Amino acid sequence: MALDSKIPAGPLENKWSEYKEHCKLINPANKRKLEIIVIGTGLAGASAAASLGEMGYKVKSFCFQDSPRRAHSIAAQGGINAAKNYQNDGDSVYRLFYDTLKGGDYRSRESNVWRLAEVSASIIDQCVAQGVPFAREYGGLLSNRSFGGVQVQRTFYAAGQTGQQLLLGAYSALERQVALGTVTVYDRHEMLDIVKIDGKARGIIARNLITGELERHFGFAVLICSGGYGNVYYLSTNAMGSNVTAAWKAHKQGAYFANACMTQIHPTCIPVSGDHQSKLTLMSESLRNDGRIWVPKQKGDTRKGNQIPEDERDYYLERRYPAFGNLVPRDVASRAAKERCDAGYGVGTSKQAVFLDFREAINRYGKVECGKHGIENPSEEVIREHGLAVIKEKYGNLFDMYAKITGEDPYQVPMRIYPAVHYVMGGLWVDYELMTSVEGLYCLGEANFSDHGANRLGASALMQGLADGYFVIPYTLGNYLANEIYNKPTSTDHPAFAEAEKNVADRISKLMDIKGKHSVDYFHKKLGKIMWEKCGMSRNEEGLKEAIEEIRTLRNEYWNNVRIPGTDKEFNPELDKAGRVADFIELGELMCIDALNRKESCGAHFREDSQTPDGEALRNDEEYMYVSAWEFKEAGDWQLHKEELNYTKLMPTQRNYK
Ligand SMILES: Cc1cc2nc3c(=O)[nH]c(=O)nc-3n(C[C@H](O)[C@H](O)[C@H](O)COP(=O)(O)OP(=O)(O)OC[C@H]3O[C@@H](n4cnc5c(N)ncnc54)[C@H](O)[C@@H]3O)c2cc1C
Repeated sequence: MALDSKIPAGPLENKWSEYKEHCKLINPANKRKLEIIVIGTGLAGASAAASLGEMGYKVKSFCFQDSPRRAHSIAAQGGINAAKNYQNDGDSVYRLFYDTLKGGDYRSRESNVWRLAEVSASIIDQCVAQGVPFAREYGGLLSNRSFGGVQVQRTFYAAGQTGQQLLLGAYSALERQVALGTVTVYDRHEMLDIVKIDGKARGIIARNLITGELERHFGFAVLICSGGYGNVYYLSTNAMGSNVTAAWKAHKQGAYFANACMTQIHPTCIPVSGDHQSKLTLMSESLRNDGRIWVPKQKGDTRKGNQIPEDERDYYLERRYPAFGNLVPRDVASRAAKERCDAGYGVGTSKQAVFLDFREAINRYGKVECGKHGIENPSEEVIREHGLAVIKEKYGNLFDMYAKITGEDPYQVPMRIYPAVHYVMGGLWVDYELMTSVEGLYCLGEANFSDHGANRLGASALMQGLADGYFVIPYTLGNYLANEIYNKPTSTDHPAFAEAEKNVADRISKLMDIKGKHSVDYFHKKLGKIMWEKCGMSRNEEGLKEAIEEIRTLRNEYWNNVRIPGTDKEFNPELDKAGRVADFIELGELMCIDALNRKESCGAHFREDSQTPDGEALRNDEEYMYVSAWEFKEAGDWQLHKEELNYTKLMPTQRNYK
């Protein structure tokens, strides 16, 4: 199938307005007859379901947690971007567009990025109207802070709990629709297949995770808002339950999977501490507003951070990238940390960590506060006391989290941090309308291949998820459903439903019948190790080829030797996990194939054979200025389709943050 991204004609600035003015509409009486399935209740799914319910559609909303409120989005910490220019520092829709396109190393679709920047301001208005408690200045105006890869302050935040507050807003909007009867929530339900009739998505098979029963649900359209797949690496900052299953089932039903290898490794996470760890913790990027990153100048230095004098510290980001300093994009900061640790300058017992230090910020804020309070000639102690109060106010919950996990007091000693898997730019390929390559099947939020190209700038995922759910899908879905008003709902007795249900049941039985020797986690850890070592922060041809072979062997072992206790007709989290890990194994292979195909470095995808003399990612625009969209043929076999990327407003150049 040829890829049609359906980008509207006309100047970039007008595309979205033109689209909205000319897309098809549906009258209210017809909307009430149209049933829509939404998989996921994170920011993308909850905002979409609430908006569509408010518009009058009949919505069925699914999540695997015990409450929509527990979607991974609740964990987002640092903030959400919007081109409001409240700081009067030169921000604009163009600047946000420019930063996002450049940050993604020119591997995203120009028209989508412009639209994202354009609707960003409305997101803040929407959330404020819902009562989201964004941080405010003393005078009541909304406050902003900086995130990496930009030189303006455009990030809106609610302490270190921005995702939580935004999700509570979206959840309230969703629950309002539940009360009004337009939305029905199915929690503890896992979508396990898409039902297609005459080439169109017409429903899903879901498993009730409490009873194990399989259920059939009809919908005129299905929206996948199932989040990211970073847990393919086993250890990541994602919620433990985040997985690829919904997107993967859609992929196997014909939805192309795009830029699978593009994984964001976040530079500021608490380092791995041992083999028995099952989760990594993010220290929000907002900390880079005030924290300075450094390593000792002397190799193998074992002193505590606060014992190392100023002139023996190497603030390597400030040294290498004076223009952006500690606020370079995540891919650049992560690679720079790895480079220092590989060269022997790492700190802590593992030597796989660098320092994130607030000493200077505490001093700076302290002096300002003393000035405000009219304290003349304050002692160092008084300055520190006032500075600490400011840091506590801004980042207190993050500092507490660090102290609880590491047992160290970050107000007294610098934090130790190291890069960790955090977000995926890859996902289901979607056109301008967010429709996948299957008619009637849409994908929103982190689950789609998104607007972030080869690297997402911080605070842009929440923006994209909410843009998709509140502002894009309400228009684009109607444009499709307007043609469906002539059709009657399909009965779930249709043979296509029966066949899909049988396939799901057979797969569950097959997994249960293996009765092998090893736990699901045993295999997941093995997969994670292969992915991290060979398809992680840097990649090379030999390693990727080895990884593909190793994953194929692992897939075989898995289907012969995994052990799932209990039965399939009860609450059985091990079985749930088993299905997800089986999908992760297949995805891992595709990620390595995608990384092998892309013989260039761009953003977070760093091929060792494609770098500038000073170790920066070197793109190859001649050969790789495309989105790779993979079509599933059969296990281990995919066909590549290319969506060429064209830029009209901004000509791609070598990224430079120096
Ligand atoms: C620790 C952390 C901090 C972050 N901080 C920020 C930040 O400050 N700013 C920012 O912009 N981004 C941040 N991000 C990224 C951001 O949180 C995510 O990209 C975003 O929340 C994803 O939202 P989503 O709605 O796409 O998916 P999710 O929030 O992951 O929701 C997925 C939903 O899909 C459901 N689901 C999945 N599969 C199935 C299935 N098979 N059947 C039924 N339901 C299913 C789940 O139950 C869930 O409801 C952070 C990420 C992490 C890990």
